[in-house]
Amino acid sequence: MSKRLTILGATGSIGQSTLDVVRQHRDVFRVEALVANANVAQLAADAREFGARLAVTADPDRYHELKDALAGTGVEVAAGPQAVKEAASCPVDQVMAAIVGVAGLEPTLAAVEAGNTILLANKECLVSAGELFMARARKCGVAVVPVDSEHNAIMQCFERDNAASIEKVILTASGGPFRTRPMETLEDVTPEEALKHPNWDMGAKVTIDSATLMNKGLELMEAYHLYPVTTEQLDAIIHPQSIVHSLVAYADGSVLAQLGTPDMRTPIAVALAWPERLPTNVARLDLTALGQLTFEPINEARFPAPKLALETLRRGGSAGAILNAANEVAVAAFLARKLKFTDIVPLVARVLEAAERRGAIAPLGSLDDVRAADALGRKLARELAEGA
Ligand code: NDP
Repeated sequence: MSKRLTILGATGSIGQSTLDVVRQHRDVFRVEALVANANVAQLAADAREFGARLAVTADPDRYHELKDALAGTGVEVAAGPQAVKEAASCPVDQVMAAIVGVAGLEPTLAAVEAGNTILLANKECLVSAGELFMARARKCGVAVVPVDSEHNAIMQCFERDNAASIEKVILTASGGPFRTRPMETLEDVTPEEALKHPNWDMGAKVTIDSATLMNKGLELMEAYHLYPVTTEQLDAIIHPQSIVHSLVAYADGSVLAQLGTPDMRTPIAVALAWPERLPTNVARLDLTALGQLTFEPINEARFPAPKLALETLRRGGSAGAILNAANEVAVAAFLARKLKFTDIVPLVARVLEAAERRGAIAPLGSLDDVRAADALGRKLARELAEGA
């Protein structure tokens, strides 16, 4: 029997890589719903190619464009945020949650509440609402399978039955394009330079986050919610080749690592098939051709974001949502050339300090609390960005 699959964020980098894996295994998967936002032409083309039952754009103004593009195909069409949530709630075997940003939180929670297994790429579900999100998943008996290459690697190395013997979970970071660039020139970094990741081909937001290493910070926060570890057990190191995707160190001295060429189709295939395996046609790893793999500590002066993320985890409650919202605003301001590259992470840190001074870091009891923390983070970040 084929697996029914819904993809939230189908037109994005993760969505397209997912469809590429599905393309190789048309007998294994049946596409139920495809959800996107602005790229209606791609959404319609994919809905046709994969014979989706439903295609949804989050933008109500694009309904007619999508409807026209799918005329005569029999694919059902819908638009708007409520339609996105309904698509996420259709009963399927798996939902790939790959909408970018905090916009992905509500649809993914809707998928959880419908009892759908979540293949989680969207970071904000865990960064902004980790405790709430995982508690709902546990309550609904829903598995959350990480797609991000680091967490997917950890999943493959983390022996849950031996969790008490795990000493450290070590995430690897490529170091992005500015690992060796002279520090004094970092404030001149342009969006074009920051958008050129040395190893990975990803969406714009996550690429900038990789250049500041905020992405690693967000991943440390995600790992904390996905695995039974303390903040002291979490570590990150630089590994410029992006071949070792993460490591788990055990009390007996063993260190398990997962390796592979940097191609998201591998962790996507792992998530789609877990705990089984699905063949892909990604380039095979040739260690002798690579010659060497190198590792180095993160220079905190150059890259303050991972430390800030661990501090944010220790602050707990709404701090994650505030950090995430402030970072989204700061990245957008940088891309709009309104903020220097070197001001992105300090601005996020200042937002957290301002929120703390106001006594606004509090436990998250509901989605409304997440929304309020997100709104506060954005507001404070905009005010500070304007003054920067
Ligand atoms: P992209 O920017 O490439 O794609 C984002 C997707 O989300 C698009 O399909 C976009 O639609 C859709 N979208 C945007 N806003 C909405 C909305 N309001 N409602 C519904 N759909 C919306 O992002 P990525 O694929 O790179 O990343 C997706 C998520 O996965 C992010 O959270 C990212 O951090 C995470 N991630 C990505 C990795 C990667 O390698 N790319 C690795 C690990 C995690 P449209 O294009 O039609 O506007």
